[in-house]
Amino acid sequence: MLGKPAITPEERRFKGDTLVLASHNAGKVAEFQTLFTPYKITIKSAAALDLPEPDEDGLTFAENALIKSRSAAEISGLPALADDSGLCVHALNGDPGIYSARWAQPGKDFNRAMEKVWQTLQQSGSVDTRAEFVCALALSYPGTHLSELHVGVLRGHIVWPPRGEAGFGYDPIFVPEGYTETLAELGSAVKDTISHRARAFEKLAALCFAHRRVVVS
Ligand code: IMP
Repeated sequence: MLGKPAITPEERRFKGDTLVLASHNAGKVAEFQTLFTPYKITIKSAAALDLPEPDEDGLTFAENALIKSRSAAEISGLPALADDSGLCVHALNGDPGIYSARWAQPGKDFNRAMEKVWQTLQQSGSVDTRAEFVCALALSYPGTHLSELHVGVLRGHIVWPPRGEAGFGYDPIFVPEGYTETLAELGSAVKDTISHRARAFEKLAALCFAHRRVVVS
């Protein structure tokens, strides 16, 4: 047989009881805290550990998620979870995509970023408003290049003007498939069950965290 044997389900189980959440985005951190509620795992935030933000110079969501999780794991000495995510608009060839945060610069101004999405869509002359949110989620361990990587997608379409107060980023202009309200109108009760982040987390949790799930009887 060539190469090493495949990694076993037992080896993929999360061994410790603490991990670092390698994100400085308050919206994402809040969503992860809810997703982790059923699991007996202590979450330390990148901000609390004062971790630096590495250059996200990958060309895909997956590459950028791995850059962030590996950097946080090596610097903190703890397992680290990182998400790279964004909004991909079909008629804009997937833009803003991995540049979703950068479209709000300077000043993390998402009103301007949302307006830029809508204006660029109008200028494209397309009537196709389909879009999707994508989330790549990476879990890395210190001292090894082995990482877990899972992707979640939420399909929908863009609306204008923005609607709703909940959530963050591009939520006010995104209506998920099967709904008429934006994510910002639907709020966390719905978003946390259908989102790209929740879907990626579900796959990761089934493989790595299931044994740490607290059963409430
Ligand atoms: P990252 O920190 O480089 O992954 O930036 C991701 C950016 O994508 C965020 O700053 C948001 O603008 C956008 N984004 C990712 N997930 C969501 C979401 O769930 N709702 C709204 N915007 C999102």
